[in-house]
Amino acid sequence: MTVLVLVEPDGGAVDELSLQALALARELGEPLEALLVGPGGAEAAGGLGAHGVVRAHVADDERLGAYAPGAWARCVTDLAATLEPSAIVAPGSNRGNEVLAHVGARLGLPFAANCTHVQPGAPLELTRVRWGGSLLEEARLHGSPALLSSAPHMVAAGTVNGADAPQVDRFAPALDDADLAVRVSEHVEAVTSGISLAEAKVVVSGGRGVGSAEGFAILEELAEQLNAAVGCSRVVTSAGWRPHTDQVGQTGTKVSPDLYIACGISGATQHIAGCKGAKKILAINSDAEAPILMSADYAVIGDLTEIVPAITAELRKAQAS
Ligand SMILES: Cc1cc2nc3c(=O)[nH]c(=O)nc-3n(C[C@H](O)[C@H](O)[C@H](O)COP(=O)(O)OP(=O)(O)OC[C@H]3O[C@@H](n4cnc5c(N)ncnc54)[C@H](O)[C@@H]3O)c2cc1C
Repeated sequence: MTVLVLVEPDGGAVDELSLQALALARELGEPLEALLVGPGGAEAAGGLGAHGVVRAHVADDERLGAYAPGAWARCVTDLAATLEPSAIVAPGSNRGNEVLAHVGARLGLPFAANCTHVQPGAPLELTRVRWGGSLLEEARLHGSPALLSSAPHMVAAGTVNGADAPQVDRFAPALDDADLAVRVSEHVEAVTSGISLAEAKVVVSGGRGVGSAEGFAILEELAEQLNAAVGCSRVVTSAGWRPHTDQVGQTGTKVSPDLYIACGISGATQHIAGCKGAKKILAINSDAEAPILMSADYAVIGDLTEIVPAITAELRKAQAS
C-alpha cells in the first residue's frame, strides 16, 4: 500500500504546510506518493525525494491554472482510484481542508482535519487539535482510504536521509464542467502596514478578548500611533480573524520588541513562548487573575474596548500638543 499526499506548489517550490503534511504522512510508514496540481507543480516535484516521496504525480490540464476545489478533488479521486492508497493526507491549509472535504463527500468517507499524530492500523489512531488549540483529541478513523489533514504549524517538517529524486509522472484528470463551477477568478493583495512582526519595536497583539475580526480596528489604530506591528494569539488565527502570519507564539512568530502590548490575551505558555523576548510587556485584561499578569511588567485591568481607544486618544493629544 502507499499513502497519497496532496502537495501545494509555491512558486516552483513546495509550501511549508505541505512539508508538514508529508512529515505527518511518514508516520504511517508506507511509501509516499505526491499529487501536485496547478502552476509550478512539475518544478516542485523534483525536490520531494528529500521528504520521502517515491513518485510524484503532476496533474496536467490547463484549466487547473486557477484554484478550483472540485477540480482538485477530481484529481485526488481519479488518482486514488488507480493507486488505491491506504490514506490520503492534505496540508492543513484552507485549500487542503477544502479539497479533502470534497473528496470525503464524493467517496462517502469521513475526514479527520487538524491531525498532529497518526498511528497506522485499522482503524487508524490519531491525535488532532480541536477548539482552537485548547483540546487535543484522541480519535479512531474508520474508512479506507483514511482522509486526514495535518494541523498547521504543529507538525515539524523534516527530511529523510539518502532519498533519491522521485519518479515524476504526468496524468490528465477527467475534469468536467461541474468540477470547475467554483474557481478563483481574481487575486487581491492584502493591505499591510509594512512593519514586520518579527522586527517591530512595538507589537500590539490581540487575543480572544478582542471578540471579532472587526474588533481589531482599535488595535490597528493604536498600532498606527505607535508605528507598531499587529500580532495575535492562536485562538484568533484559528477563528479566521487574522492570518497565521500575525500569530505570536510557539507555533507562530517569535517577537522581541521593546514593548509588547497584549490585549485580551490570557497568557498561555504557548503564547508566552513567542513574546517572552520582549523587553517590556503591558497586559490589558479584564481578569485580574489572568496568567499573563505573571509575565507582564505593567497591567491595566479592564475592558480593552475602553482602554485601547483611550490610550490612542491620549497619544493623539500628546502628538497634537
Ligand atoms: C501545541 C500547541 C501550540 C500552540 N501554539 C500557540 C501559539 O503559537 N500562540 C498562541 O497564542 N497560542 C498557541 N496555542 C494555544 C494556547 O494554548 C491558547 O489556547 C491560546 O494562546 C489562548 O489564546 P487567547 O489568550 O487569545 O484566548 P483565551 O485563553 O481564551 O484568553 C482570552 C483572554 O481575554 C480576556 N478578555 C476577554 N474579554 C476581554 C475584554 N473585553 N477586555 C480585556 N480582556 C478580555 C480574558 O480575561 C482572557 O484572559 C497552542 C496550543 C497548543 C496545544
